[in-house]
Amino acid sequence: MDSKRQTRSLQHIRHFTAANPGYLTLQGTNQYLLGREEITVIDVALPGAENIDGILEQVERMGGKRIEKILLTHIHRDHCGGALALKKRAGAKLGISNLRAGYLGGEDFTYASGDRIPYDGGELTVVHTPGHESSHCCFYQPRQEILFTGDHILGQGTTVIPPPDGDMESYIKSLEKLLELRIRLLLPGHGPAIHDPYGKIREYIEHRLMREQEVLESLRKGVHTIPSIAARIYTELAAPLVPFSQLSVEAHLVKLAKERRVVKEGERYFLTEKA
Ligand SMILES: [Zn+2]
Repeated sequence: MDSKRQTRSLQHIRHFTAANPGYLTLQGTNQYLLGREEITVIDVALPGAENIDGILEQVERMGGKRIEKILLTHIHRDHCGGALALKKRAGAKLGISNLRAGYLGGEDFTYASGDRIPYDGGELTVVHTPGHESSHCCFYQPRQEILFTGDHILGQGTTVIPPPDGDMESYIKSLEKLLELRIRLLLPGHGPAIHDPYGKIREYIEHRLMREQEVLESLRKGVHTIPSIAARIYTELAAPLVPFSQLSVEAHLVKLAKERRVVKEGERYFLTEKA
C-alpha cells in the first residue's frame, strides 16, 4: 500500500516525497508537514525549486498559511540538504540537534533529547536515537502515538550503520529505547508507514543480532576480512549496495571489538576467548 494513502487519514500530518529515489533513499525522502495553519516541516532533502515548490504546494493543500519551523532528524544530505533553501524561501525558523549546533549555519534553535517542541495542533518530543548517525533524533507525537523515525527505521529494508560515526551498539540500544514508548504508527524518512511498530522494532533488533552471529560464524570458519565476511553473509545484494554491506560488517566488528570478543590485526579480525 502506498504511504500517501496510509497517512491521508492522519490529522494535520501530510508528507511530500522528494525526487531523490535510490538504493538507500528508496522512493525518495519523506518530508513531513505537520500543523493546521502554521506548518512544521520534518526534514528537507533537496534545495532545488522543484522540491521547495512541492513542499509549499503541499502546505497550501493542507490549509496551511505558512511554514513556521523546520526540524531535522539528522544531518545526512538527503535529510537536511534543502533546509536552508526552504528556510530562506519560507522565512521559517530552522532547528537542529544541539549536538550539531551550527552545522548548516543559519540555525535558529537547537533541541536535545526529551525536549518538547510545540507545533500548531500538537507537540513533539525529541528522542535522541544515535546509531545511524550520532546526533540522530526521532520525533514522538504522543497524542496520536506517532513516531517520525528518520533513518533510524525505514519503511522497507534496513538502514546503513556507517562507522566511525555510525555505531552498532548505540543503534541497537536506540531501538530498544523505542520499545518503552506507546507507538501506534511509525512514519519513516524513506518508504511507507509502518502499522506494526513493535513488530518492526523487534524485527530490526533481531536482524542485527542475527547478523552479529553470522559475523562470528564467519570468523569461526576462517573468513577474516570485511569484504570476505560481507560477501559470505550478504548474498543476493545489488552491486551498488555492496560497499554499504561492508560498512555494516565493519560496524558489527567495531561493536564486537569494543566488547573484546574480536581483535583486529591489520585488515583481519580474529575471535577472542570471550566470543
Ligand atoms: Zn541518513
